[in-house]
Amino acid sequence: MPSRKFADGEVVRGRWPGSSLYYEVEILSHDSSSQLYTVKYKDGTELELKENDIKPLTSFRQRKSGSTSSSPSRRRGSRSRSRSRSPGRPPRGSRRSASASHQANVKEARKEVLAVKLTPLILKPFGNSISRYNGEPEPIKRNDMPPKHTQEQFHLSQESSYVPTQHSLRPRREEIKLKELDSKEEKLVTKVPASLRTFEVTPSPMKDLEFGGVPGVFLIMLGLPVFLFLLLLMCRQRDPSLLNFPPHLPALYDLWETRVFGVYLLWFFIQALFYLLPIGKVVEGMPLIDGRRLKYRLNGFYAFILTSAVVGTSLFWGVELSYVYSHFLQFALAATVFAVVLSVYLYAHSLKAPRSELSPASSGNAVYDFFIGRELNPRIGTFDLKYFCELRPGLIGWVVINLVMLLAEMKVQGRTAPSLAMILVNSFQLLYVVDALWNEEALLTTMDIIHDGFGFMLAFGDLVWVPFIYSFQAFYLVNHPNEVSWPVASLIIVLKLCGYVIFRCANSQKNAFRKNPSDPKLAHLKIIHTSTGKSLLVSGWWGFVRHPNYLGDLIMALAWSLPCGFNHILPYFYVIYFTMLLVHREARDERHCKKKYGVAWEKYCQRVPYRIFPYVY
Ligand code: NDP
Repeated sequence: MPSRKFADGEVVRGRWPGSSLYYEVEILSHDSSSQLYTVKYKDGTELELKENDIKPLTSFRQRKSGSTSSSPSRRRGSRSRSRSRSPGRPPRGSRRSASASHQANVKEARKEVLAVKLTPLILKPFGNSISRYNGEPEPIKRNDMPPKHTQEQFHLSQESSYVPTQHSLRPRREEIKLKELDSKEEKLVTKVPASLRTFEVTPSPMKDLEFGGVPGVFLIMLGLPVFLFLLLLMCRQRDPSLLNFPPHLPALYDLWETRVFGVYLLWFFIQALFYLLPIGKVVEGMPLIDGRRLKYRLNGFYAFILTSAVVGTSLFWGVELSYVYSHFLQFALAATVFAVVLSVYLYAHSLKAPRSELSPASSGNAVYDFFIGRELNPRIGTFDLKYFCELRPGLIGWVVINLVMLLAEMKVQGRTAPSLAMILVNSFQLLYVVDALWNEEALLTTMDIIHDGFGFMLAFGDLVWVPFIYSFQAFYLVNHPNEVSWPVASLIIVLKLCGYVIFRCANSQKNAFRKNPSDPKLAHLKIIHTSTGKSLLVSGWWGFVRHPNYLGDLIMALAWSLPCGFNHILPYFYVIYFTMLLVHREARDERHCKKKYGVAWEKYCQRVPYRIFPYVY
């Protein structure tokens, strides 16, 4: 058994990760397999340190002045002028200039940041918790610079203790390599140092499984398709009241049409072709666990324009889009079959994937992983299957289905123009889809891309649920007209715009911040630093509630349903379902963020107590 130098309970000095600064710590335990000590700083922060980063108290000269603060965070918080006597600091009489010594310190600190391993630890629910260190507990204003005389100290402590931006700590050699890679094809990926990666990918232990674990996901996988067909059948009834349940069930063979499946495949492959077109900017995604950053081409909006041109031309040549309406259930079945086959393929594909490419949500259980997705970013060459499915066939398909319903409404109801209700639903949802495609890059920081794998959940959600359930209001209006007056329409439009402004501003603020934390446009916002190198916004939209984007999305969802009137609850299914989805999603995200950011996240929750609805929830 390898020997250990320090005993539990011993008081020593531990190096602050990424710096040359040593602070008094107590040894809590030692892990013989990883050879890491768990230590506790005076401010309660617990970290794992290597033996080399721990020194006995006797190896330090005691400071006489009381200016040394006893904990790293308190010290940074006070931004004291005094400098800790770290072993790396040159003696006072050194002939090197102050700036040269500062640069040397910074250089050394950078080297150390890259070497330090901040092992993510599980946050335990009670008192003696071990958490990832979450740097700066007090929110600071990013443009809140220290007074001139303390600037050198501030810079040193900032650079050495945090990873403020992802690029600032990249070694030059690597930067040059990255530039070379950037200039090559998009299939190449870039690497970032281990200390800058978002979070460790360790498959979730069985006890942490979401969605009710294995039985839960099994029921969801069986139940969702059944539920979808029941809803569509209900909506087709002349009286879609819930009292008319169950609807008349067609035979399964009536629902299957090979030609419909062929049309669906054609649609899917046309979208794939548009995705492959070498137009649009190529950007990098968030860093992965192995340090790579995948590249993504942003051409969703172009795909939408091209699709509109194809649909417009088809209409011009007399192609009957009403075929989609009259075979709506068959299309839903074709999409479901496709999503299931794709999920099987994705699971099989993931079996060849190295562990580093598995999603942090995967568990090792076949059923659960089939649902949540085992592999994070399955690709065929440069073709990213998840990224493609998230915004293209389903989302653009939703808009086309809405258009089909608009034409069907005119045909079925013998109208010369679509109803105001149908126009409102179509335009609101068109705005939503165009917005998502225009801001395609924002997808790269969402849970779907950075956390969930690509399995049945997203395949079914993206390819079936979105186009066939989100178009539900338009489908409903075809056979259940609702006349909306202009004053009522104006109120609904105002509601929709309010929701949209909240949704868009919140998402854009977070994306701009994640893209460039030192963006001068965001300099007025307050933030909390975390040890991962990322910070959390605590003012602006993200200081209003913890998920302002969900709030905006839900307000918009209500505005989509209101044009359908109040005769039936069915068109409100989307709002009810979406509220449940986002409340559940918020809880999932909360759990992930607590794990990622520990104490800093708890501080954020204290400062911003409401999750989605101010003063309610
Ligand atoms: P978010 O875009 O809200 O992303 C959550 C992540 O944001 C967190 O994990 C965290 O990641 C980061 N974050 C959280 N709080 C802060 C903060 N204070 N400061 C900075 N970063 C923070 O969640 P989703 O991916 O769920 O949603 C994206 C959008 O998609 C939303 O607008 C949502 O409404 C919409 N949506 C729509 C659906 C639909 O069916 N129509 C379904 C699901 C979502 P990190 O710190 O790692 O960056």
